[in-house]
Parts: sequence; C-alpha cells; structure tokens
Amino acid sequence: MKTAIFGAGVAGLSAAIELVERGHTVELYEKRKILGGKVSVWKDNDGDSIESGLHIVFGGYTQLQNYLKRVGAADNYSWKAHSLIYAEPDGKQSYFKKANLPSPWAEVIGGLQTDFLTMWDKISLIKGLYPALTGNEEYFCSQDHMTYSEWHRKQGASEHSLQKLWRAIALAMNFIEPNVISARPMITIFKYFGTDYEATKFAFFKKNPGESMIEPMRQYIQSKGGRIFVDAKLNRFELNSDETIKHAVLQDGQIIEADAFISAIPVHTVKKIIPKPWLAHKYFRNLHEFQGSPVANCQLWFDRKITDTDNLMFSQGTIFATFADVSLTCPDDFQQGTGTANGGSVMSLVLAPAHQLMDMPNEVITELVMKDIHNRFPASRQAKLLKSTIVKIPQSVYKAVPDVDKFRPDQISPVKNFFLAGDYTNQHYLASMEGAALSGKLVAEKLHAKLGS
Ligand SMILES: Cc1cc2nc3c(=O)[nH]c(=O)nc-3n(C[C@H](O)[C@H](O)[C@H](O)COP(=O)(O)OP(=O)(O)OC[C@H]3O[C@@H](n4cnc5c(N)ncnc54)[C@H](O)[C@@H]3O)c2cc1C
Repeated sequence: MKTAIFGAGVAGLSAAIELVERGHTVELYEKRKILGGKVSVWKDNDGDSIESGLHIVFGGYTQLQNYLKRVGAADNYSWKAHSLIYAEPDGKQSYFKKANLPSPWAEVIGGLQTDFLTMWDKISLIKGLYPALTGNEEYFCSQDHMTYSEWHRKQGASEHSLQKLWRAIALAMNFIEPNVISARPMITIFKYFGTDYEATKFAFFKKNPGESMIEPMRQYIQSKGGRIFVDAKLNRFELNSDETIKHAVLQDGQIIEADAFISAIPVHTVKKIIPKPWLAHKYFRNLHEFQGSPVANCQLWFDRKITDTDNLMFSQGTIFATFADVSLTCPDDFQQGTGTANGGSVMSLVLAPAHQLMDMPNEVITELVMKDIHNRFPASRQAKLLKSTIVKIPQSVYKAVPDVDKFRPDQISPVKNFFLAGDYTNQHYLASMEGAALSGKLVAEKLHAKLGS
C-alpha cells in the first residue's frame, strides 16, 4: 500500500509517522526547501534561527507529546512556571498564577489572588464562566453562532476582564480580536483552564521548533523507510472516470502514482487544487468557507538583557500579543556564539492582529514594535538593537469566526483514494500543533481502516 502525502507541516509529518509504523510505503512531498510549514525554522546568512512563529507546547497537547516521545524528542522541550504573565507599562508585570491545589480550586483561588482584576471582575468571571466550566462539546458547538465578546457580555462578565484578560488569549489563539473570534474555541479553552491543572502549563522547545521537533520527526520517518522530497510542489490531480485520483502532478511535471493520496497542505491552498468535478460535493465546496488569519513574527536581538522573565508573556494595547525572550526560554539556541546573539535578549514576538501590517514596510513595523518594547521593558531604552527580522504570513491558521466550525471537513473525503489532514480538519482542537498532530493521527487511522491492511 503506497501513500503519497503532500505538505510536510506537523499534520503531514504526523500522518507519515503513523503510516510508516503501520508498514505503508510513504512518500512525503513538500513545496518548500524546509520542512515544518508554520512551525518551520531556518538559518539566515548570519547563522541566526528565524522562526515562522513563536511556538508553545501546552500540557494538554497529549498527541503532540506522544509523537515527540515516539521520535526520541521527549527531552527537547521544557516546562515553565505555571502562570499567565502580562507585561505592563514601565516594566511592571501582573500575573494569573494557578494556586497549588486541584482544579477548579487552583483557578478559583489563583483568580481571586490576581492583582490586575477588580473584585467585580473576579465575581462576574466566576459567575459568567460557570456554563463554560460545566459545559460539554454539545454546549460549545451550540455557542458557535456568536463572537466571544457577545458571549462574554451575555454572561454578565465584566468589560474590564474582557479587555484585560481574554483579549490577549483570543489574539494568542487565533490572531483575531474577541469581537471577531467565535465563542466556541474560547469557552472550550476555559474548560481546560478551569478543570485540568496540567493542560494549561507551557513548554518551550529547548532549541527551536525546527531542530527540537521537526528534525527528529524527519529522521524517524526516514529511518522507517519513508521518503521525503522537498522543492516538490503539488500542482494538480488527474482523475479516473469515476473521479478517483489517477495520479498527482508536481509543479515540475513529475507524475506521482500511489494507492492513496493525502493532502496535508493548508486549506487556502487545497481550495486551489480541487479538481472541478469534485465541487459537485458539498464536502469540497465547504472548503471555500475558510479564510486565513494574517500574522507576523518579529525577532529582535539586543546587546544586553532587557528582561529576566523565562516564560511566555502577554500584553494588551501593544502591537505584539504574545512573546518571549528566547535567549532565556530556549537555552540551547539564541546564546552567545550563535549567530548575532552576544548574551543579550533575543525577543520573539507574535504581532496580532496583523491585517494592517501585511503591506507595511518592515522598518515601519520594527519602529512600532520598538516603541512598545521601550514602553514595556525600560531596560531596552539603553540597549542597542543589533538586528531585527520580520516574517509575515498573510494566510496562517483559519479564522475561527462564528459559524465556520461546522464546515471543518472529516479526514475521509467522498473521493475513495483522497484524504485530508491539517489543523483545519475536524478534530476537537482549534488550529494548532496539537490539532495538526491529531489530524495526522486520524487521517492515518481512517485511511488504514478503509484501504490498507
Ligand atoms: C506565528 C504563529 C504562531 C503560532 N503559535 C502556536 C503555538 O504557540 N502553539 C500551537 O500549538 N500552534 C501555534 N501556531 C499554529 C500552528 O503553527 C499550526 O496550527 C500548525 O503548525 C499547522 O500545521 P499543518 O500541518 O496543518 O499546516 P502547515 O504548517 O501550514 O503545513 C502545510 C505544509 O504544506 C506545504 N504546502 C503548501 N502547498 C503545497 C503544495 N502545493 N505542495 C506541497 N506542499 C505544499 C507548506 O509549505 C507546509 O509545509 C502558530 C502559528 C503561527 C503562524
């Protein structure tokens, strides 16, 4: 049984791991020269690691962690202190620290001790979030028709907590504002925050996601006989008379034959390669309901430390939503002797919302970022900026806006030898590394059950 997988992001790599382990012949075709998709990292001419985006592993990512263990990368990430840290003006910080108690007391007591929420915020939050904490999947789905802001106000939770606490979470999760994101993913996350002590802890890759996760995945797949091709862009499928795939054709004209074909490419690209006859199926027409969320990642190298916080940070009212000093969080990269780093801070910052940044020159964006950095980290005012980089992704993860969730496709398509993987396909996580890993597992299991043994 030969399977051709297109797209070597976390979804395609996860599907390949599952299939090589089941004894399938696997060929993985990736458009770019590097693997990893939205998690990819590359070295620039200075020898610095440039990340597509700052990536965090959550305690609740059981499938991703399972793969990291299987490919021998279980020690390649490390957990940080269990708290949400908000960077405030003039170097102040505020915290949401979980108390050292079982859930939900960890969150209730931790929330009551939080200094940046008023007593009314706290009471209204506990009362307002109760339906989310006790809700099930059916309840979460039923709330997908409204935005998170609408849901929050309907529950009587305070406006201040919406802006102060949850706006940063919406921007971190999907790079869009709380009045744009659907209530569904947000209240699903509250359930995790409020009921599972371990699910919300953060880990960082010790080097970077490319070397700490993607590279071990690549080595594992190849060690099991899987073949990986880069610079290999899927161009189109040619069909048999029954609409099944006869073969795939790459950009350079190469023909790929296989028993089964998996698309693990992003939804905005899949839309472009779906053969016209397949659009008779609602399943394929639904793919046009998805839009990508724009986002940008900025990295700044300073000549000295501007913070001593070894953890993920959030802030609101700044051009960046989530960020970290990766010279602290990733101890095996970004250190003196590696590229530009000289022992100073290396900030990696996710810029969101980013619609207005896509056409803005990088120098202008860097100026805006630096203005906010000076505001949040006073030590940066005396520091020298050694280097800055910006990576823009105009269509990153799909926008989790109201009423889109129902269009997420199953991994099995109506075409017998064609399957879908990717963070946007139907699994219980939002678009994320865990969602992509789950989709890879599901597509392999379903394909194997349907066609292979
Ligand atoms: C800035 C940023 C920060 C993020 N932070 C986090 C985080 O902290 N935690 C988290 O869990 N998630 C995070 N995410 C989300 C996470 O990166 C994605 O959800 C996940 O990596 C998507 O994986 P995927 O395999 O579904 O898709 P992708 O990573 O997009 O992989 C698709 C692959 O298909 C390839 N491809 C495209 N077209 C073709 C073609 N025609 N032929 C062959 N190959 C093709 C692409 O080059 C790519 O390699 C972040 C994303 C971004 C952008």
